[in-house]
Amino acid sequence: MLFSITAAFNTVTDISPDMLAKLGIRGLILDIDNTLADHNDPQPAEGVVEWIERMKENGIRMIIVSNNFYLRVKLFSELVGIDCVRESKKPFQKGYKLAAMRLGLPKRALAAVGDQIFTDVLGANLFKIKMLYTLPIGRSDNRFLKLRRAIEAPFIPKRIYCGGQGAVEHHTLNAITYKEN
Ligand SMILES: [Mg+2]
Repeated sequence: MLFSITAAFNTVTDISPDMLAKLGIRGLILDIDNTLADHNDPQPAEGVVEWIERMKENGIRMIIVSNNFYLRVKLFSELVGIDCVRESKKPFQKGYKLAAMRLGLPKRALAAVGDQIFTDVLGANLFKIKMLYTLPIGRSDNRFLKLRRAIEAPFIPKRIYCGGQGAVEHHTLNAITYKEN
């Protein structure tokens, strides 16, 4: 089970403190690119700052674990006020181990949040923590990212949780979503 996903979301802001409590999750290991912000965008995506505040208010501990380069991760981490592990080389385990240690939580209370199958999802499964998958945000004209998404398409969950007032509804995604990007 290398590609297990605990729950899938349209966007990170659909993840609620209630939901985390039900899953026994007290700490989040967060990806940046296409999860909290568009790829290499220095600013968080819409609603992300408020979402982070809500998580903090509810006692959810958070740390950023990103494969992106030092300065990108450092500046973003300072902007949103969350500690980070830079150039983490996900899916390898070193970054996750460091993150878990800094959060001071056992694996059973941790979940990774991210958009990439072969780094975020695979890494969380290898480290044996829960995985909250979010659809990649933003558009990218990067050819490599387009190819990556085409390769990932078979692994993308077909049932996505749509946020709202606690209501759970599902809709079916199709691979066309990824061709558009
Ligand atoms: Mg990402």
